[in-house]
This record gives sequence, structure tokens and C-alpha cells, in this order.
Amino acid sequence: MYSSVTSASSFETRKKLLIEEMAKFLPSDSIIADEETLRVYECDGLSAYCERPLLTVLPDSVEDVQKILKLCHRWGVPVVARGAGTGLSAGATPSPDGILLSLARFNRILRIDPEARTATVQPGVRNLAISQAVEPMGLFYAPDPSSQIACTIGGNLAENSGGAHCLKYGLTVHNVLAFEMLTAEGERVRVGGQGLDNCGFDLLPLIIGSEGLLGVITEITVKLLPSPDAAQVIMAAFDSVEKAGDAVAGVIAKGIIPAALEMMDRYAIQAAEDFVRAGYPTNAEALLLCEIDGVREEVLEYVEQVEGLFRELGAVAVRTSQSDAERALLWKGRKSAFPAVGRISPDYYCMDGTIPRSQLSYVLTRMREMSEEYGLRVANVFHAGDGNLHPLIMFDANVPGEFEKTEEFGGRILELCVAVGGCITGEHGVGLEKIRQMSAQFSEAELEQFHAVKEAFDPGGVLNPGKGVPILRRCQEYRSIGN
Ligand SMILES: Cc1cc2nc3c(=O)[nH]c(=O)nc-3n(C[C@H](O)[C@H](O)[C@H](O)COP(=O)(O)OP(=O)(O)OC[C@H]3O[C@@H](n4cnc5c(N)ncnc54)[C@H](O)[C@@H]3O)c2cc1C
Repeated sequence: MYSSVTSASSFETRKKLLIEEMAKFLPSDSIIADEETLRVYECDGLSAYCERPLLTVLPDSVEDVQKILKLCHRWGVPVVARGAGTGLSAGATPSPDGILLSLARFNRILRIDPEARTATVQPGVRNLAISQAVEPMGLFYAPDPSSQIACTIGGNLAENSGGAHCLKYGLTVHNVLAFEMLTAEGERVRVGGQGLDNCGFDLLPLIIGSEGLLGVITEITVKLLPSPDAAQVIMAAFDSVEKAGDAVAGVIAKGIIPAALEMMDRYAIQAAEDFVRAGYPTNAEALLLCEIDGVREEVLEYVEQVEGLFRELGAVAVRTSQSDAERALLWKGRKSAFPAVGRISPDYYCMDGTIPRSQLSYVLTRMREMSEEYGLRVANVFHAGDGNLHPLIMFDANVPGEFEKTEEFGGRILELCVAVGGCITGEHGVGLEKIRQMSAQFSEAELEQFHAVKEAFDPGGVLNPGKGVPILRRCQEYRSIGN
């Protein structure tokens, strides 16, 4: 009835059979098959990687997702889960011979328990919607990706997303208590529990960050935190990125854990200021935004210490927010920095390497040298406190060869991160984008272990195939090209 085939006509046959089978349980408005509408689902936030799926399906019940997975498992059809499609590593790029499974209709907050400080939500709920729903109870959900207005909590789990405030409050993995997942065969599995300790192997940190390769997440219980009494942002301007890098190390060395510690360089400062008028000094080479939160007295004390430290370490201007509105405006500039850079360049490519904080100045200097070598501008805007870099390489996709040059430059930045003891992704995931650099990061033996994990969860290899972990033969090819 169905066979694994690759020609255009066999794709059409596969598509027809899938539509017939899915129409038995999904209403017609849950199956998107026309080429024009399918274009909406061709890529995620990394639009350089595009593929059109055979079909996009938008189920609204767990039972229907189970039926879809069972069918795809039986027929060997690739399934790529999708939240809001804001990912930056082509993790949600569809397979051309498979199904794109949109979780957009799973958008309900199911339960809020203010006593236990938890919220149980469907995976398509937007990150910011959780904090908005619990704000009247004096609570918030801590991980705050800059895309939080749009990205979904399901996508956050799959990528183990971070954000400006993860320096103090941790990544997604530190803020999730439990979730329900469907395996590739459509079996329901519950992972984690309501308490802090659970028995058996701890699958929670294994699956969080597994980029949709191990299962489809259908329900999530997150931890909520009490909103802090007070918070202030200290903005410090520096005349060199190296001095700003040293000031980051200085704050952490002093034993102060800010809620957030972010850095922007000249291009990012100017672009963000032009875009949102946050009050940033546009003549600065680097800007730090350091948020201190907690009990009011403690905030006042730490703010004074950090202001003094920044001045001591060479800040040319220091300003501290005096109201919530001023604090929000300073953050608005930072959170709008990616789209702001999009206004000063036809295209940009966002990298996501992590390095030890002590290497910040060295890596920023090396990147500037490489930027000159490639003739491509780089704006830096990143989670400096975590050592999580986001160089935005500016390029023009209409210039022949420029994207390839940009990709090569980006790859070299990631390899530099590995060389100084860091890693190729802090929070955006590997997806299709960084598959090649996985062999710079991991040995063959380590990659074999990853394959064994994938095989244990998804023996048919239907979930998000080709992403996250390179096949070993290709690793050898990558290594021989690199040598
Ligand atoms: C302007 C901008 C700023 C950003 N800032 C940050 C930031 O500060 N920090 C950060 O960490 N990221 C950031 N990102 C990246 C992105 O927003 C995050 O990776 C986010 O978690 C993706 O969520 P999504 O719902 O859009 O997922 P998608 O892009 O739709 O999917 C991402 C991955 O998750 C998988 N997936 C989605 N839903 C499920 C599910 N229910 N079950 C299993 N797998 C699933 C997909 O298959 C894919 O592999 C930014 C992106 C943009 C465009």
C-alpha cells in the first residue's frame, strides 16, 4: 500500500495517501495541502534553510497527535514538530517527504496553582502569556527569550531556551517540573513529577533540549517564581569591548549574581537606539545592561557596588534606572536588537556560541579580526554573564556567494568557541545549521552515544530526521574537509 520512495511522482502518491488516511480523523481545516499555504511553513527564523513539507497538520487533541504519529511511524514518514517557528537553527525546517506537525492549536493554560507555584500548559502557549497570566498573583515564569512575545513553551522545551534573566534563574531545564510527551510510536509518557526528586533515570534533562528528535511534547508543568520586590538596571558605557568584557568578569568575580548581564557593541547599540530610542549612548564602543533584583535594601546595596565597580573598570558613563518605565525602556532596546540590526543590513546571520567568561575579550578581538578578513560586519548583542555570544553577521543574500562566505565565517566563530573551552550552541540548538560543527565539538564515541539514545526513543528515525546529530559517515567527511 505504501512504500518508501523519493521521486516527484511518488511524493505525490505519498501525499495523496496521507491525506486520505488523515481525513479519517482530522477535519479538513486541520490539513494543509495546497502549495501556496504550505509556503508559510517552509522555514523557521533561519530562513536560509527552506523546504516545503508534503503536508502541514494542525491537530487540536492529544488523541489526534497520537493517531498522526502512529500512522507516520507505521509508514516511515518523517514528522517535524513546530511551535511558533521562531527557532534560529533550522530545527523546525520541514522534511520535503514528510509532515509538519504544528502545535499552534495547543494554546491553553490548563491549570495555575499559586500555592504550589506551578502552571500546567499546552505546548503552543506563548512564553510571555504564562507570565502575563500569573502576574496578578505576584508570580512570573523566569526564562525570557527575546522572542518571548511569540515563541511557544513547547519550542522552549525542545531548545532548552534561555534569555537575559537565565543568569540568575536558570534555563528552561531548571524551570520545568514535569511534562507529557508522545513517543515516535504515539505512546503517552509522563516525565518528571510535582516534587523536586523523582526515582528512576532522570529523563527530564535528557529530553529538554533534544530539539524534537525524541518525542512530541504535549503538556508542560512549569515552576513559577515570586516577582521580586524591586529591580533596577545599571547601564554602563565603555570605550572598548575588551574593557566591557573585563567588567563582566569583574562583577561575577565579586560574587554578585545579577538577574541579567547583557552586552551590546557599537553596531548593536546604534541600531537599537535608532529603532526604539532607549536612551543608549551611541558613541560608546560597548554597553552593559546589568539588572539587580530582589529585596529593596539588597538591590540598593548591590546597585551601589556594581556602579562603583563599573567606574573602577573603566566605564565612561553609568546610569541606573529610577522607575519601572525606564527599566522597561532599557530592556526594550536590548530585546529589539535583532530586528534592529535587520534594519541596517539586508540580511543577518545570528550565531550562538558559548565561551568561558574569562575568554570574552580574547574571542571578541578574534572575531573583529575575522570580520575584517571576511569583509563582513558583525554586531554583537549577547548574554555576557553566561558567556553566551550572539554575533550577528551582516550580509546581502542577493550578492552571489555572500551567504556561503557568511556561513563559513559563522562556522569559524563556533569552532573558536570550542577551541577556548566553550560550545557551539548556548540556547538556539543545533538543528540543521550547526550539524557540521557537532564533529568539532564531539568525538565519534560521543556521537555514537547520541545515536544510541535517538535509536532507543525513535527506532524508525521519523522524528525530525537529519537534525541535531550528524551521521558518522558525514562527520568523517567534515573532518577530512577541515584538515
Ligand atoms: C528575534 C529572536 C530572538 C530570540 N531570542 C532568543 C533568546 O533570547 N533565547 C533563546 O533561547 N532563543 C531565542 N530565540 C530563538 C527561538 O525563539 C527559541 O529557540 C524558541 O524556543 C523557539 O520556539 P518556537 O515555538 O518558535 O519553536 P520552533 O521554532 O517552532 O521549533 C523549535 C524546535 O522545537 C521543536 N518543537 C517545537 N515544538 C515542539 C513540541 N511540542 N514537541 C517537540 N518538539 C517541538 C521543533 O521541531 C524545532 O526543532 C530568538 C529568536 C528570534 C527570532
